[in-house]
Amino acid sequence: MAEKFEKLSRISVPELDEILGVPFKVLDDGFVRVIDYLGSDQAVVQAARVSYGKGTKKVHEDRGLIRYLMRHQHTTPFEMCELKLHVRVPMDTWRQWVRHRTASINEYSTRYSIAIDAAYTTAPGEWRLQATGNRQGSEGKLPPEQGAHFTEREAQLQSLAREVYEERLQAGIAREQARKDLPLATYTEAYWKIDLHNLLHFLKLRMEPNAQWEIRQYANIIGHEIVRRWYPLTWEAFLDYQLQAESFSRLELELLSKIVQDKWEECVKLAEEFGWLKRRDGRLVRNRERLEFEEKLARLGIQPPWKEEE
Ligand SMILES: Cc1cc2nc3c(=O)[nH]c(=O)nc-3n(C[C@H](O)[C@H](O)[C@H](O)COP(=O)(O)OP(=O)(O)OC[C@H]3O[C@@H](n4cnc5c(N)ncnc54)[C@H](O)[C@@H]3O)c2cc1C
Repeated sequence: MAEKFEKLSRISVPELDEILGVPFKVLDDGFVRVIDYLGSDQAVVQAARVSYGKGTKKVHEDRGLIRYLMRHQHTTPFEMCELKLHVRVPMDTWRQWVRHRTASINEYSTRYSIAIDAAYTTAPGEWRLQATGNRQGSEGKLPPEQGAHFTEREAQLQSLAREVYEERLQAGIAREQARKDLPLATYTEAYWKIDLHNLLHFLKLRMEPNAQWEIRQYANIIGHEIVRRWYPLTWEAFLDYQLQAESFSRLELELLSKIVQDKWEECVKLAEEFGWLKRRDGRLVRNRERLEFEEKLARLGIQPPWKEEE
């Protein structure tokens, strides 16, 4: 005989319903707003319980189950939920954003429509300096008095590029060609739909301090303002087990084990065997893996045994 199923009602999240369509401002002229969503913490739990069957229904509380799923990377229940956003982003940031291939995207067409007349601008005190350690990063800022020159040049460049673009349009040149010299700072808009599992992956990569500052501003809004309201339990588990958690390689664990046992000399010897303590002119040569381990130790309040030798 067919099993009887209880009638279900659609899952809704009042906290998210309250902000449907409301834009969160990002950068100077960008935004993120929620267009639609599917599911909630409850939907994650509902999907997960299919795997465990009726018999174990009461075994886990919802929070415990979600935390268990997150800890053990049992990810498919999180794929049962989806979020659809409308975003307005400078094109260079968008270029990083679209690398996340697991989303569905529909972007504003500058072949079909006139390019959005807005470009991301930089305040005099916001010009970041090239990092010396990390080639992909920035550290410190140009003094505002010097930055003012680059802000002025930025304004000239953006206004010239727009002027030339509009001149081409006036002359009847096709929009698809007229756009070719618009700066990457020009804003674009898109609908972006993604499931919760892949959204968390996006947030993990783009909320990290080594992600570019601009995309981090968007990721922070999506995380702290949207996902936190939408999935309070999943968000808490994500912070605890992924975003604010730390992972250690086998090498790092071996070193850590020597440190906690106060075996400092053995720790240094091991690090030398790993090739982390090579010296030139008596100074430690830069080693990325060692530096990353040192950062992890610093977060634990531990000084590496070789630190004073540098
Ligand atoms: C700090 C930082 C620096 C970066 N620097 C560069 C750079 O210099 N140059 C550059 O080109 N990119 C760079 N990227 C982009 C990066 O390499 C990834 O393309 C981007 O972060 C998307 O990650 P993803 O592929 O995991 O995500 P998604 O595309 O959303 O995919 C999610 C997951 O699905 C799986 N998946 C998706 N598609 C495939 C596939 N075709 N085959 C197998 N598995 C798949 C993978 O497990 C993947 O992790 C950088 C990213 C960050 C965060």
